[in-house]
Amino acid sequence: SWIRICSRLKGEVGEVEYRTWLTKIALGPVDGDEITLLLPTRFLRDWVRSQYGDRLSELWNQEVSAIRRVELQVARPGDPVAPPLALEEKTTDASTAPQADSEDAPRVAPEVKSDIAAVLDSRFTFDTFVVGKPNEFAYACARRVAEKPSSVGFNPLFLYGGVGLGKTHLMHAIGAELLQSGTVSVAYMSAEKFMYRFIAAIRSQSTMEFKEQLRSVDVLMIDDLQFLIGKDNTQEEFFHTFNALVDAGRQIIVSADKSPSDLSGLEDRLRTRLGCGMVADIHATTFELRISILESKAAASGVVVPSKVLEFLAHKITSNVRELEGALNRLIAHANLFGRPVTLEATQDVLHDILKAHDRRVTIEEIQKKVAEHWNIRLTDMSSARRARAVARPRQVAMFLAKQLTSRSLPEIGRKFGNRDHTTVMHAVSRVTELMERDTAFAEDVELLRRMLES
Ligand code: ADP
Ligand code: MG
Repeated sequence: SWIRICSRLKGEVGEVEYRTWLTKIALGPVDGDEITLLLPTRFLRDWVRSQYGDRLSELWNQEVSAIRRVELQVARPGDPVAPPLALEEKTTDASTAPQADSEDAPRVAPEVKSDIAAVLDSRFTFDTFVVGKPNEFAYACARRVAEKPSSVGFNPLFLYGGVGLGKTHLMHAIGAELLQSGTVSVAYMSAEKFMYRFIAAIRSQSTMEFKEQLRSVDVLMIDDLQFLIGKDNTQEEFFHTFNALVDAGRQIIVSADKSPSDLSGLEDRLRTRLGCGMVADIHATTFELRISILESKAAASGVVVPSKVLEFLAHKITSNVRELEGALNRLIAHANLFGRPVTLEATQDVLHDILKAHDRRVTIEEIQKKVAEHWNIRLTDMSSARRARAVARPRQVAMFLAKQLTSRSLPEIGRKFGNRDHTTVMHAVSRVTELMERDTAFAEDVELLRRMLES
């Protein structure tokens, strides 16, 4: 039955997670209605308990109805233990090879051994960062920390802002500046990398090494901290590292997509500490900043791009600098390849697909408005609780169109419709799809609305 439970778990959580966490479990004694499962370390026990505890109990109970409870314990030497199970075939990839066969020969995962020193992108420096109103505060803070790390009031430095607005760029710029000034050791990694390194360290039982490495740096930079939402154990580890470093007078720099107080899903005590130093946000770009960035990148490329074209791009691509840069790079590549001057016409042609994607950016509010007008209902009914068909159907169509025409997630769409939950939106989407198949008049209505919204 344990074998069946294991293979079901493996199916549910996926190969990698299974191999990382669950092959470490050994069967302990059964006592009445309780079975004990043993794990090699306290950390693993806590992790398995928090992530898989309930599911393990359920599965055991389904397999062996006499068992009602699963107790997770740390194995002690001499515990009567059934050998852990290796369900997987041998793989040839050494780095992901099953870890279940031998506990007494810990393998050191290559990631942990490798140096923790920062690998920085040499393009991301202060020199290449274009400063404007939306980012001048963050820029000033970054410069300040690069000059004088660990000064009071600037530790930690917390940079936040939307995607592609320059957080990573600024962090690398700080790192490059610090390394140039000589003495300090700098570690930079994404929160995701932090987690994988941490997991690898646990797997190879080298967490001490990992912690020591982390705690020996002068400056630690963690990028995209929002990744740790819901990853409680890694958060906990980060929290301890954070405290150890700050207490020792080292500089921490963190970036995220939201401010500490808005990062719900991070532990309160961590959020509190993150907000204790300097919090700097990078705002969405303005037209002026987009123009300056384009000018600076065009100049660096050596290709002459007329200001008309730059203005056109800055008008069209407003979401983030990465996309803006991507569009410009493509223009430049074309110009170089075909030796033709960049013109507005050529731009529209070369960037046809990108521009189209940006044209189609419809908001949920617009969709709600158009749909309400079309069926002659009040706009407020899009978010009201009324369930009469005459109101509910258009509302479903609006949800359907929101799903199709915007990149919003189901929960986000639900929130815009009077805080409905994502299953309601899912239901609306399948209901409308179904109706469109059956009722051609209805289908034409929806199509018409879609075309109006897209144009
Ligand atoms: P984030 O980390 O906030 O998602 P990045 O730092 O990766 O964004 O920036 C995305 C791209 O845009 C990078 O290539 C970066 O160099 C560029 N970029 C962003 N802001 C600026 C700026 N103010 N000046 C110059 N380049 C910028
Ligand atoms: Mg980034």
